[in-house]
Amino acid sequence: ALQVVWLRSDLRCYDNAALFEAMQQGPTIALFIATPKSWQQHDMAPVKQQLIRGRIEQMTQELTTIGVPLLAVEGSDYDSVLTVFTQLLSFNIAAVHCEVEYEQREQQRDAKVQQLLGEHGVKWCRYDRLCGFAPGSICTGDGGMYKVFTPFKRNWLQRYYQQGMTVLAKPKAQAELILPSLDLPVMQPAAELSSDWPVAEATVLERMRDFCQHKVRHYKAERDFPAIDATSMISPYLAIGLLSVRQCIKRLELEAAGQLQQADSGAATWLSELIWRDFYKHVLVAWPDLIKHQPFQPYTSAIRWSSDEALFSAWCEGRTGYPLVDAAMRQLNQTGWMHNRLRMVVASFLVKDLHLDWRWGERYFMSRLIDGDFAANNGGWQWAASTGTDAVPYFRIFNPVTQSKRFDPDGDFIRKFVPELANVPAKQIHWPHPVAAGCHYPAAIVDHAIARQRTLELYQDAKS
Ligand code: FAD
Repeated sequence: ALQVVWLRSDLRCYDNAALFEAMQQGPTIALFIATPKSWQQHDMAPVKQQLIRGRIEQMTQELTTIGVPLLAVEGSDYDSVLTVFTQLLSFNIAAVHCEVEYEQREQQRDAKVQQLLGEHGVKWCRYDRLCGFAPGSICTGDGGMYKVFTPFKRNWLQRYYQQGMTVLAKPKAQAELILPSLDLPVMQPAAELSSDWPVAEATVLERMRDFCQHKVRHYKAERDFPAIDATSMISPYLAIGLLSVRQCIKRLELEAAGQLQQADSGAATWLSELIWRDFYKHVLVAWPDLIKHQPFQPYTSAIRWSSDEALFSAWCEGRTGYPLVDAAMRQLNQTGWMHNRLRMVVASFLVKDLHLDWRWGERYFMSRLIDGDFAANNGGWQWAASTGTDAVPYFRIFNPVTQSKRFDPDGDFIRKFVPELANVPAKQIHWPHPVAAGCHYPAAIVDHAIARQRTLELYQDAKS
């Protein structure tokens, strides 16, 4: 009987628990089902969809080297997944192995598949290794989930220093298996792949290794400056599971063990960011209503957001007249990725300068980000909007011009994405309006000082 590995958010050969365990148990085939209709329902960005398709094509070759055939099927929504499994049942299948996915629709899909398989005596084996430590395993004294990051991190680190982090090897090759043919549509290949985001596992592991060997040392000092190539740029790979967070932590340990113990080192700071990733996933599992886009702080439901579509379009298109905000939005639109400091700046701007509902921004990000991840995106937006767990207090409001002076002091990042301002001197580029007459650069769509005041009123009104 066959073992089936159902690939979803774990598109890798190394440290893949489902693949590893399946191959321990017997001859294994891998299965991937593209579900573009569901992806669209989740606002998944086209660039992310292409990355997934490109990765599956590449992974088909990589799995061949260990004798595992990959059946890549073109489905539509999650109901089509059941059709695929119904057909697969014509094979003699012993078990289906997969990595957990925490989101609600994915859980519902899995419950249906599990039931179908159960009715046919097929075992369902699900592995919970999406985080460094699984949700529910890092708890407060009374067994609940932390609402604040720092004690969560303290507990997480304690666990880590006690237990370490395990990573699974790439499985040894099995005798080559030939896939019996099935009457199922073959997955469509990626239409276009960006050379910025290679999909070969060895290349991506090398990128991460290189970061841990060289750049991590400077991470704490440089990570907030978008003009510097100082962060790992692995988020798209973590999002589709081409890399696991455990691999990152293990590599960090190997390359920068000495630094990890120093709380203010680059390595410790980077580890902290990886723990934020875990934190938001744990939060999502503990408070499932978040998946319905509910705010974590109930009072913020009463905020009377603006519904000014014109302001929203200006933000989306990078035409706000605030150069750093515009450069950031254009980076997102052109590349599918945005620097973390800028995600915070533009999110704050949408909510606290334009007074638009944070969910509009959350959705727009999802529809554009190559690393779109529900937990991190929702967590980031709720942080910026002061509606989330451990969020920034509502009265702390980024000044987009001050942020620009601080984090893009020479204006290099702005010039890259806002070419209209290419010739404006660094001193003026953060607020170019007095000197930008011939630049065809938009006027500022709001006055920050007035908008700031209005934000304070909006939150105070909601509180009372
Ligand atoms: P590095 O700085 O090298 O960090 C390494 C990894 O740690 C990242 O790849 C990521 O997996 C994790 N990480 C870092 N910062 C955070 C954080 N604040 N929260 C959770 N995980 C983090 N990240 C996503 O992966 N997907 C998203 O959809 C997403 N949406 C965001 C929305 C907003 C409004 C904000 C403020 C942040 C969002 N982030 C999101 C977090 C962060 O901006 C990105 O993970 C980071 O910019 C990715 O670049 P990097 O890989 O070079 O990160």
